[in-house]
Amino acid sequence: KKTLRLILGDQLNHQHSWFQQQDKEVVYIMMEVRQETDYVVHHIQKIIAFFVAMRAFAEALKSAGHDVIYLRLDDSNNLQSIHHNILATIQASYFEVFEYQLPDEYRVDEQLKNLAVALQRLGKACYAVDSAHFLSERLELATFFKGKKSFLMESFYRMMRKKYSLLMDGNDPIDGRWNFDAENRKKLPKNHRPVEPLTFDKDVTDVYQLIIKEGIATIGNVNPKNFIWPTSREESLALLAFFVEHCLPLFGTYEDTMHPSYWSIYHSRLSFSMNIKLLSPLEVVQQAITHWETHQATISIAQVEGYVRQIIGWREYMRGIYWCKMPDYESVNFFKHTRKLPTWFWNAQTKMNCLKHAIGQSLDFAYAHHIQRLMLTGNFTLLSGVNPDEVDAWYLGIYIDALQWVEITNTRGMSQYADGGLVATKPYISSANYIDKMGHYCDTCYYDKNKKVGHKACPFNSLYWHFYHRHQDVLAKNPRIGMAYLTWNKIKPEQQQEILNQAEIYLRDIENL
Ligand code: FAD
Ligand code: SF4
Repeated sequence: KKTLRLILGDQLNHQHSWFQQQDKEVVYIMMEVRQETDYVVHHIQKIIAFFVAMRAFAEALKSAGHDVIYLRLDDSNNLQSIHHNILATIQASYFEVFEYQLPDEYRVDEQLKNLAVALQRLGKACYAVDSAHFLSERLELATFFKGKKSFLMESFYRMMRKKYSLLMDGNDPIDGRWNFDAENRKKLPKNHRPVEPLTFDKDVTDVYQLIIKEGIATIGNVNPKNFIWPTSREESLALLAFFVEHCLPLFGTYEDTMHPSYWSIYHSRLSFSMNIKLLSPLEVVQQAITHWETHQATISIAQVEGYVRQIIGWREYMRGIYWCKMPDYESVNFFKHTRKLPTWFWNAQTKMNCLKHAIGQSLDFAYAHHIQRLMLTGNFTLLSGVNPDEVDAWYLGIYIDALQWVEITNTRGMSQYADGGLVATKPYISSANYIDKMGHYCDTCYYDKNKKVGHKACPFNSLYWHFYHRHQDVLAKNPRIGMAYLTWNKIKPEQQQEILNQAEIYLRDIENL
């Protein structure tokens, strides 16, 4: 055999041109390696999901007649790094050519470039091909915003709508509007029960036991007899079909609402399947649009437009920012925040009901929806000044869908404002007011949502003003924030001081909140 082709764990793209025909000269290689299980402490469900999906993908390739080398984590010849496994395989079997798909993560991209140099020195030919998944090129966003100071997602999104002719009427948006946000984002009514999420309930005990046996450090909980996440193309397609039928009709309406009893509400939970490429973003939005077209009596344009924007807008935009700004993005810290992440982020033991539930469900399901990530956990870490490195490590580990290209841009950029306002035009922060407006946590909380100071005052209320006060020098100039300072300045100085003192007390005792 002549050519060795690498398939990474997040490149399970059945539709890639590589797999469209068998080639007797080609061998594929996939590997479970400590390099990937150990670069951050991952949720146990995330590692299981990757390995189960990779194994199923390798089996599908073999059944289709392809030649596959699959290195399991405990194989004796597994050298536990992509670099060393490839070098060893090429040298042992005299492959002449090495090919890989462009990785999504900077860290792996650098590693593979270095590997290619090492192989070329040994006289081997190396080629990188596109992963054929995204709707924009790596540097398309960088070119689109060249010379601009702010990178407005909305203008990138409109360009993508036109480029792929999605929800368009010629050159105009269908129904005359690009954005239906104003109609969305309602609080879940008290007695409304969202649809039960579709789960897959598989037995993954073998992979679970392998992870335990190998002593991999993990976080979170799992029931290995009832594993909920899709790990094959068939399951991913089933979840997509379930989403368009049962969740899309209310997706936009309840996109931002939060509830302690319902962990996914009307969200699609397709991010994992998309991020490992079992589903393509184009097929996901096309299926949503096709379903809407035939169900317009029951599904409004606001629902489908809201969904399409998340995928061809936000998802592609974040990837574009990543390739435009890495590797510097990894160390931006606009507010110079240095605090350690409170220990209760790892066990959900806090009296703050909203955070207890958002962290608790993240530990139980490796999932929280966007507003829980942004306006609960992210909001709290930003208000209390946690070091973005610590925040990143937590998000990168805990979520099933966390890969650095989409995690860091959302965490450091959108949620922590650590890039100084490239992704977010103002910091996403709030007091208890917003959390109560959109969620059902406050009424049963130990803390009082209406109090800023004193016994049981909600910590978000004083931390909110503490944040604005301590960052006045860099934020007061921002026209989108001016209103907050007008409000703050209307508060009497002695009252302001009381609020700041309350925040200081909470910050000193952050471990016990
Ligand atoms: P839905 O609500 O059903 O949305 C549909 C799809 O839109 C998602 O599957 C996702 O592919 C895409 N999408 C929506 N919002 C975003 C966004 N802001 N950026 C990129 N894609 C988006 N998403 C990840 O995939 N991986 C991460 O590691 C990740 N980390 C995040 C960290 C923070 C602090 C925040 C605020 C958001 C993060 N997101 C991340 C974005 C978003 O929260 C998740 O994509 C979403 O919650 C996944 O659940 P879902 O599939 O049910 O999404
Ligand atoms: Fe969260 Fe404060 Fe509401 Fe409690 S009162 S749930 S801490 S916002």
